[in-house]
Parts: sequence; structure tokens; C-alpha cells
Amino acid sequence: MKLSNIFWDVIVVGGGPAGLSAALVLGRCQRTVLLCDRNTPRNWASKKLHSFLSRDGISPTEFTEISRAELAKYPNVYFYPAEVEDAMAKGHHFQVTLSGGCIARGKKLLLATGVADELPPIPDIENYFGKSVFTCPYCDGWEQRNLPVVAYGQGKRGFELARSLTAWTKDIVLCTDGPKDITPEQQELLEINKISIYEVGISSLRGEKGKLQSIGFKDGHEIPCQALFFNTPCFPQSHLAQKLGCKLVGNYESTNVPGVFLAGNILGDVQLAIVAAAEGAKAAFGINKSLTREEFERAAGDSASGTYLAKNN
Ligand SMILES: Cc1cc2nc3c(=O)[nH]c(=O)nc-3n(C[C@H](O)[C@H](O)[C@H](O)COP(=O)(O)OP(=O)(O)OC[C@H]3O[C@@H](n4cnc5c(N)ncnc54)[C@H](O)[C@@H]3O)c2cc1C
Repeated sequence: MKLSNIFWDVIVVGGGPAGLSAALVLGRCQRTVLLCDRNTPRNWASKKLHSFLSRDGISPTEFTEISRAELAKYPNVYFYPAEVEDAMAKGHHFQVTLSGGCIARGKKLLLATGVADELPPIPDIENYFGKSVFTCPYCDGWEQRNLPVVAYGQGKRGFELARSLTAWTKDIVLCTDGPKDITPEQQELLEINKISIYEVGISSLRGEKGKLQSIGFKDGHEIPCQALFFNTPCFPQSHLAQKLGCKLVGNYESTNVPGVFLAGNILGDVQLAIVAAAEGAKAAFGINKSLTREEFERAAGDSASGTYLAKNN
């Protein structure tokens, strides 16, 4: 298929839960959808996706395969495995440039490009990420209930993470990997809740096959630990929203740039896959509503009854 020969109703950038869900709803609205994805999902290291009703514990790869198979039933939805390198508004439509130089044009643009995590600077942490090093207790806290865990983070981030982990276990050490940078009130609250604070840097993660057993510190200390949760800044996976100057402003995940919508973790709301999928569905609703109104009004403008609509709108 030559992508540039089609004037797509919607171009969806990002095929995680948000983009996939949007493509499904739009497909069922009979919209022509180009769904582009470069396959760098946020949960690349995860083995099991939790808290997604009806799919709790599924492998993220299988989740994506099932979702893509569902989309494949809709001939008007086309999945294209490529990166969108650039996007620009051209009058009333959008033009995107895909890796390989291919150009595609669409009436609406949905950015569901997600975020990526900055792993703490601890040697060998990549081998533990997704197995016993996690970002989100809502995703992976249940498996660690009542076990010894480390909350990793500085300042307010570390404090908030340690506090939130108390829903799953009372055996928590807060590691700040440098000055703790918390207020005396926060320190007192941590002490009351029997959470000790280590400011000394972590020197090593110890365990087997990605499963943590203990953590070593630069001063020679070692503590037992079944899981480490971290709260470090995450960053957008793509520059496109920033380049287009998008800010969320209206209903149904619409932005200040007419025709551009946002969905998923990029919005910075609750970072669960099921929420991302819901945001994708909401964006799809807004996009279809907007396209339908435009077509309706254009048809009216093209006919005598246009006067009726113009008067009654
Ligand atoms: C270790 C770990 C475990 C997790 N476990 C869970 C869990 O158990 N339950 C849960 O609910 N959530 C979990 N999450 C969170 C979950 O991964 C996110 O909530 C979810 O992936 C967000 O979906 P999204 O569609 O917004 O973004 P993503 O899933 O990150 O998808 C974004 C997609 O956009 C693509 N993309 C980005 N830029 C471009 C571009 N320019 N061109 C083309 N494609 C592009 C990327 O390749 C990616 O495939 C976990 C996260 C991590 C890090």
C-alpha cells in the first residue's frame, strides 16, 4: 500500500494501549486510520501486565498481539510499524514523515506516544528492571505484599513513594542515594511509620536471574530486599507534541492545536494501561465527533438546506 495515496481520516502515532484503543474505536466508526508504532513501549521490561480488567497478569507482548489481531479485522485500520519522525499542520490537515522517508496525510492527528523511565544510576539495574525493580506499586505491589522493599527517590518523590508503598508492606527502607532533601515533618512521619532512610549510595543489587535478594551500599552495609520501586522523572518518548505546541485544553483529550489530540501516559494522569486505553477511547470519541460534525456541516453547506443549518447552529 502506498501510504501517501490515501488521505487518512486519522493518523495515530503510538501503538501502546492508548493508540490501540483509539484505533479500535475509530475503526468501528468507519474511519480510515493509519496507526504508526516504532515498538518502544514503556513497559518493555515487564513480564506481566496487572490491573487490566479481564487481562490481569497477561504478558504485555500477548496483550499487544491480541489488540493488533482485533484491529486486523477492520480493513479501514492500517498498522504501520515505523517511527513518525516529523509532523506538521498543513492548512486543515496534517502531514507526517515516517522513518524511511514515507509521507502520510490525515485530517486529524492523535499523539499516543507515551513516556519512558529514567532508571536510577545503579550498576546492573537493567537486568532487574521489570522482574524485581519496578516503577509503580499499583502495577507490581501485590506480588511484594508484606515483603522487604526499597523505595528509591530523592526529596518529595522518595517520600511519596515510601508512603504509598505502605499500602502493600510495612517493611520499607527509603534510599535517597545522596542527601535525602526532605522536610523535618516528612522525616518524622517516616520515623513514626518505621521507615528507615539510607542516604548512602547503592553500590550493587544482589540476586539471581533478575530477582533481588539484597542491596549493597557504598559504606559496606547490606540489607535484605525483594523489590526496589523507584520514583525518578520520566520523559516524553517523542518530541512531536512539543514541536506542535500541544497543550490539553478541551473535552475528549483535545488540544489547543485544532485537530490534534493526546492520549495515554503522555497526559501525565494515572499511569495505568487501562487508563491509557480509556484515554485513547475518549480521544477517538472526540475525533469522530469532530469529523462527523465537519462532514455534516460541509454537506449542508453544499446543498440548499445549508441555510437551515447555518440559521439553526
Ligand atoms: C516496568 C513496568 C511495568 C508496568 N506494569 C504495568 C502493569 O502491570 N499494569 C499497568 O496498568 N501498567 C503498567 N505499567 C505502565 C504501562 O506500561 C503504561 O501505563 C502504558 O504502557 C501506557 O500506555 P501508552 O499507550 O500511553 O504508552 P506506551 O505503552 O508507552 O506506548 C507508546 C507507544 O508509542 C510509540 N511511539 C512513541 N513515539 C513514537 C513515534 N514518534 N513514532 C511511532 N511510534 C512512537 C512507542 O514505540 C510505544 O509503542 C508498567 C510500566 C513499567 C515501566
